Amino acid sequence: MGEKPKILVYDLGGCEGCPLSILRVYPELRNMAELYTHHLREIDIDMEYDIAVITGPICINEPEDVNTLRRIRSKVNTLIAYGSCASVGGITLLFCRGGQEPRPEHRTFQPISAIVNVDYAIPGCPPAPNLFIALINSIKSGRGHFLHLFASVAKAKKLSGFDLLDTIVLTGLCISCGACIISCPTNALQMIDRNPDLIVEKMY
Ligand code: SF4
Repeated sequence: MGEKPKILVYDLGGCEGCPLSILRVYPELRNMAELYTHHLREIDIDMEYDIAVITGPICINEPEDVNTLRRIRSKVNTLIAYGSCASVGGITLLFCRGGQEPRPEHRTFQPISAIVNVDYAIPGCPPAPNLFIALINSIKSGRGHFLHLFASVAKAKKLSGFDLLDTIVLTGLCISCGACIISCPTNALQMIDRNPDLIVEKMY
């Protein structure tokens, strides 16, 4: 990897908040890397890059997106999932559970690790972009606790309140003790019919 690694930022979907958050630190980034994102210039995914950063979740019903993601993975040494959508599915996992309009097929959206190996993941909706700077510096130097931290997050499959519903409540394992409601830092849970339920407006 050269002094200024070539970094591809590829947006698979989501709300655009993630790629825009990276642009917030562009003045700092341009001194340490060459950034290729469709917000700054036309991008060619078949070019040689050192690092690819994926934002947004993967829609597993879109073969073109799945192929693009696999192609990017096969060409770079380092793949970063940036943001909760890309790293753990984020809010799109909630929306594809049904109950909303439109109703995509259950499990349509997945974290990108469902399709490809991810080296590092930065959760957050969107993440604090300074974390991105810290991770890129750590990758360049090959050291730093950030590397270990974000490599661990890349292996995590479940990190959000949606997953609490998925794993515990929907499978009937919840004993209605209310501990999740008491401990939720944003008071975003309520008990309905002895089941905890998310108050979406309070989640952020
Ligand atoms: Fe948007 Fe949040 Fe998903 Fe990023 S993680 S694309 S900010 S919804």
